[in-house]
Amino acid sequence: MMSDCLFCKIIAGEIPLKKVYEDETVFAFADIDPQAPTHILVIPKEHIGSVAEVTEENSAVVAHIFEVIAKLSKELDMKDGFRVVSNCGESAGQSVHHLHFHVMSGREFTWPAG
Ligand code: 5GP
Ligand code: ZN
Repeated sequence: MMSDCLFCKIIAGEIPLKKVYEDETVFAFADIDPQAPTHILVIPKEHIGSVAEVTEENSAVVAHIFEVIAKLSKELDMKDGFRVVSNCGESAGQSVHHLHFHVMSGREFTWPAG
């Protein structure tokens, strides 16, 4: 746990939230500022700064995150489609420096992303 990391504090239960899923290595919760009718964040419990910090040593949790996303897409009825986004770095708009995947559904999404 990184003491100054918002999402590490979320995992530690220090911040109120709407939990969607939890297991030994992964945590998922509703985004506080939803950009779609369904907008959840799926994060590793281990502190990884961003996609740029994924390595051979820690990538298993990323594979598991995508298993969880597939499972949640069925449980949360995202059959019409959903979008998975991970902003990495300043120009991509990353505001929390703990790896997270936005999973959004319930509206039409345009492409390319803004
Ligand atoms: P980023 O901008 O790094 O891609 O995504 C960070 C996300 O975290 C944003 O969508 C923001 O709304 C969400 N967020 C920031 N602080 C909190 C919080 O305290 N609780 C929850 N549930 N989401 C948060
Ligand atoms: Zn963290």
